[in-house]
Formats: sequence, structure tokens, C-alpha cells
Amino acid sequence: MTAYERVVRFYARYRGEKRVIGYSVLGRSIYAFFVGEHGKEGIVQGGIHAREWVTALLVLKLIGRKVRGGVWYVPLVNPDGAELCQRGARSVEALYLRRDLLQINGGADFSQWKANARAVDLNVNFPARWGTGRSNVFSPAPSSYVGEAPFSEPETRALAAFTLSVRPTFTLSYHAKGEVIYWRFYQEKADEQRDLSLAQLLFEATGYALSDGVSAGGYKDWCTEKLGVPSFTIEIGKEEWAHPIGASRVGKLYRKNKDGVRALCECRNV
Ligand SMILES: [Zn+2]
Repeated sequence: MTAYERVVRFYARYRGEKRVIGYSVLGRSIYAFFVGEHGKEGIVQGGIHAREWVTALLVLKLIGRKVRGGVWYVPLVNPDGAELCQRGARSVEALYLRRDLLQINGGADFSQWKANARAVDLNVNFPARWGTGRSNVFSPAPSSYVGEAPFSEPETRALAAFTLSVRPTFTLSYHAKGEVIYWRFYQEKADEQRDLSLAQLLFEATGYALSDGVSAGGYKDWCTEKLGVPSFTIEIGKEEWAHPIGASRVGKLYRKNKDGVRALCECRNV
């Protein structure tokens, strides 16, 4: 079963509050699941990069954890990309689109694909110093293409609109790989202190090191710069593991990450 199929099945069976926050380029649903009590609520997202679909499986497992306040979980922001990565070109019905994607990918092996079904990298498509990232590219590609404009993609628009409606106390994005926490994005002094101390809590909860690295156009970047919300990216999985990290690693990844969301809730949802 693919990551997307697992999320669909989870949605059908989930007894708590749940929502479809939007649709992908190919019309697949982007699902959100709520845990806890309304009031102060964080947002946790995964699967924005196709080949990092293991983060969606991690997020599904985290939904079982009790938290202080509330958390909205969006396990798979990029369902088309994840399906492309796991099932290849046959996951795309329209033949003209299949042909385009095969050409952009340079072959039938989509295991390293990061983008959506329009070959836009969703995590460089947000309006936060958009297009200034060092590895950004400006035409369709398996990764790093920023899109025609910020928010050009339905997946990024859906996640942004949902975030604005929730007004979260924090956001946490799961990516793979490298075992590192990103927290910095041109914050003002006071916010920088606040976000650094929260990042240190995440370090204590997970053991992942903090990084000073700064990207551009990401979801975390947008939440930090435009919304002033403490926002973090955790890169799960060992650097030496190959992409895509397989489902057999989820147990281990869960044990390493099970207290991260709770740590942020203990601090931000009081
Ligand atoms: Zn990623």
C-alpha cells in the first residue's frame, strides 16, 4: 500500500475531527486530522516532498499521541508527487501529462522525485524570499523548481489557506533526511530568542542537532516571516540512508520523534 492509500484509509477510519483542506493538481484530497482541544492549536505537516513520503507515515503514527491543547496534522501535502515516486508514471492518467513528466524526469524511475505533478517543488513555492534560494531552478524539474509565481500551486494554496484559518501557535514540518532541525529565517531579535529556545526543546526531545541553515520559499519560512509563528523543520532519518526511506524504518523514526510535537505543545499551547 502506498503512503497516499494509507492516508485515505486512515481518513475513512478516523473517529476524531477531520477535514479535506484542498486538492492536488490531479484532484487528490489533502487531508487534515485534529487531536486534542480547540483553542491553542499547532499544525504538523509532512509529505510536501514526494520522495520523503515516509514522513506521512510518521505523522499518521503521531496522531495517536495525546497533546496539550490541540494539533492539526496534515500528513501528506503532496499526494500526486508521493504516488509518482511510489508507483511511477502509471499513477498519472492523462497520457500527455505522463509524457511530459517522463521527459522532465529523464526516465521512468521516479524514486528521487520531490515535486508535484506540475514539476513544481512545493517547498520553494511560498512567498518568503521566493526564488532567492541557492538551489532554486526556474523551469520544471524533479526538484527545486520554484513555480511561475509564489502560490502558483493548489497544494501550497491549500496549506496556506488552512494555516491562516487555524492561526496556529506553532508549525512543524517533517522532511527527510539528515537528522537536523531548521528554525532560523530572518527573525527579529525577540522572535529569534523565542524560536531558538523552542528549537532547543525539540533538540532535547529528539536528539537532532540544530542547524543555522536558511532556505527560501518554504512553508516554515512563510510561517516564520509572514505570520510570525514559531516554525520548525525536522529532517528525519540518517544521512546515509538512501531516498526514498522505506516504510520499514517508521518504527525507529517514531521512537526518535514521538516527543517532538508534545514538547512544542507543552510550551505553546498552555
Ligand atoms: Zn524535504
